[in-house]
Amino acid sequence: VVDESTRLSALLGARSAGPLAKGRGLHTVGDLLQFWPRRYHTRESDLSSLAKGEFVVVVAEVKSATTRPMRARRGRMLTVVITDGSVEMDVTFFKPYGHEEALVPGRRAVFGGQVDVYNRRWQLTHPGYTLLDEDEDDDGAGDAGSGPADGDRRGLIPVYLRVPRLHNWTIAECLRIVLDHLDDVPDPIPEEVRRRRGLMDRMEALRAVHLPRDFAEVDAAKRRLRYEEAFVLQAVLALRREEAARERTTARRPRGGGLLEAFDGRLPFELTAGQREVGEVLAREMGQERPMHRLLQGEVGSGKTVVALRAMLAVVDTGGQAALLAPTEVLAGQHHRSICAMLGDLAQGGMLGGSEIGTRVALLTGSQPAAARKRALLDAATGDAGIVVGTHALLQEGVGFRDLALVVVDEQHRFGVEQRDALRSKGAQSPHVLVMTATPIPRTVAMTVFGDMETSTLRELPAGRSPITTHVVPADRPGWVQRTWERVGEEVRAGRQAYVVCPRIGDEASGDGGDEVAGQEVPEGGEDEAREWASVYAVEAALREDPALREVSIGVLHGRLAAEEKEAAMARFASGETGLLVSTTVVEVGVDVPNATVMVVVDAERFGVSQLHQLRGRVGRGRHPGLCLLMTATDAEGARARLDAVAATTDGFALARLDLEQRREGDVLGARQSGGRSQLSFLSLLRDEDLIRHAREDAFAVVGVDPALGGHPALAAAVAERVGEEQAAFLERG
Ligand code: ADP
Ligand code: MG
Repeated sequence: VVDESTRLSALLGARSAGPLAKGRGLHTVGDLLQFWPRRYHTRESDLSSLAKGEFVVVVAEVKSATTRPMRARRGRMLTVVITDGSVEMDVTFFKPYGHEEALVPGRRAVFGGQVDVYNRRWQLTHPGYTLLDEDEDDDGAGDAGSGPADGDRRGLIPVYLRVPRLHNWTIAECLRIVLDHLDDVPDPIPEEVRRRRGLMDRMEALRAVHLPRDFAEVDAAKRRLRYEEAFVLQAVLALRREEAARERTTARRPRGGGLLEAFDGRLPFELTAGQREVGEVLAREMGQERPMHRLLQGEVGSGKTVVALRAMLAVVDTGGQAALLAPTEVLAGQHHRSICAMLGDLAQGGMLGGSEIGTRVALLTGSQPAAARKRALLDAATGDAGIVVGTHALLQEGVGFRDLALVVVDEQHRFGVEQRDALRSKGAQSPHVLVMTATPIPRTVAMTVFGDMETSTLRELPAGRSPITTHVVPADRPGWVQRTWERVGEEVRAGRQAYVVCPRIGDEASGDGGDEVAGQEVPEGGEDEAREWASVYAVEAALREDPALREVSIGVLHGRLAAEEKEAAMARFASGETGLLVSTTVVEVGVDVPNATVMVVVDAERFGVSQLHQLRGRVGRGRHPGLCLLMTATDAEGARARLDAVAATTDGFALARLDLEQRREGDVLGARQSGGRSQLSFLSLLRDEDLIRHAREDAFAVVGVDPALGGHPALAAAVAERVGEEQAAFLERG
């Protein structure tokens, strides 16, 4: 019996199975079935509007056929001239055997192949073809290279990604053979759901996608496959949530009179209503034996850190520990500094002059000196540090806690599910988890990427925030550029501070060189290889010479600096000693210097929408209005439109949507970029909101009734496959 695990080599013969395996890694029937067509051709191409490289299908008549010896090598070659009545085309075969007899003048056939130009004539080389006969019985005509017969009920030609050494028609033929031999395939979508949602079954969908009659059929099949993708994804999430619901942990119910109360007493501001509300939700959930699993979203500057810190203090009051995980060393350092500052003597537990109820806040990063690291490890392990702040280093083996009660993950989108799990597994029991994100998440992403978590949103900004104005500065207009630096000079001399962010680090000695690229998100088509992106050191050198910035103290910050240098640079800027900080995107997330009012982004087209929004969020955090200047030399339409869009709105939701449009969805899902099937094939996080919501309802309902999926073996298998892919992708990323 032939099923999806059957080897293609058992069914197709080596001439086809070989190239499929070697060229595209397709080994089994299941692999081939998921080798989705890229597009479809209607049966006939128009010979009068051909384009080089295009795959065409034409019905044409053989006008002449000549065989002659080849000049350069042995053997003969067949050239057939075909015509559709007005346009002519050459068809060549370097192995004429079999074709000479078939393609005689007057004979009609359907030809399919990639168009080339040779001797200024259109040419098809070794195309697939099917002879058409006046007397009907024409099925394949015994020809080796023939494609689907015209008499077939199927009306569209699927076009596949190129497989080296295999003709598109041969691929289509392989699929026909596979589908002919396959009796049935298991369907992960239960029949009841299929009926209710009006979806065809899986077998039908596979046939329709690979052997389609018309576009309506293709559309219906794609809808079904899209739904399946969403449904399986949501089933994974439902199961994860189901599993989390069964976990047990220590309920953390602080008594009064502890750190939290002391901290609240000295807060220099009123909590916003949202901060208070979320705080209550967190307290309630952490007070239960079921581990909290919550996502907190809130605009840049909405005050998430205070919310998290209060939750951390609450668990410390119960004798537990909290870990705060940050995406960069700079941010970890800043969190550590600002938490220590906010806590004052409450952060000096066990030290002379420290508060009696106080605890300690440890910092753990990958590049800190051995002694400091050892100390932090010890404090974490003994429990002397109630709060441990760190980067990925916290995930490593050998980092232990005495009683890890709460894990806070700041600025989530750089941490995958697996990394969260790794940290969760550090506690003897599952700790409570709070994930924070600044970029508002479109609903669809919230439902898919974070679909196993509950969400809270901080909608208001604390009172007294200042507006931010954004302008795009054309870098090829010297007057504008000069005005930019003058404006920066004015602000700094007035006692404020400015950031200048560049895409590259460059080289300290020469003021440039070095080609390390600091920006991470390159929107597709946004990269111009020929151009040298501005570097931190080159810009710093130029600004030092600029009369507009006389007397301005300039600092430098980037990821290649040693940890202490980074710390020191950030501390100098935070204290106001440095007026202008030239840096890479290390300041992108979370850096909080309320006195900074200007953000200049050099070569702004190099950055993604979210990144720019994040960078902009670094200013306007204090009493003074913020100014964001996006400098660019690009005249590429898309890039310019993106920057204009960022300049036009500070609405994070609108920008998140724009960002989603521009990013590959695989990236959003955190999956590998190339190859592998863990990417979405059919589903669009942008377009399919309703469908995802429906699939989510259905999947959660199915899992709710049958959490072991005993009655849904096909779904269980699909879920296992999906999870396996995610894990493989994770391992590969390291
Ligand atoms: P984000 O949500 O971007 O992480 P932060 O937590 O960094 O925002 O907060 C931004 C700034 O706002 C910090 O300086 C913080 O101390 C301050 N802040 C937080 N909550 C309030 C509040 N309720 N009132 C005034 N300022 C606040
Ligand atoms: Mg923050």
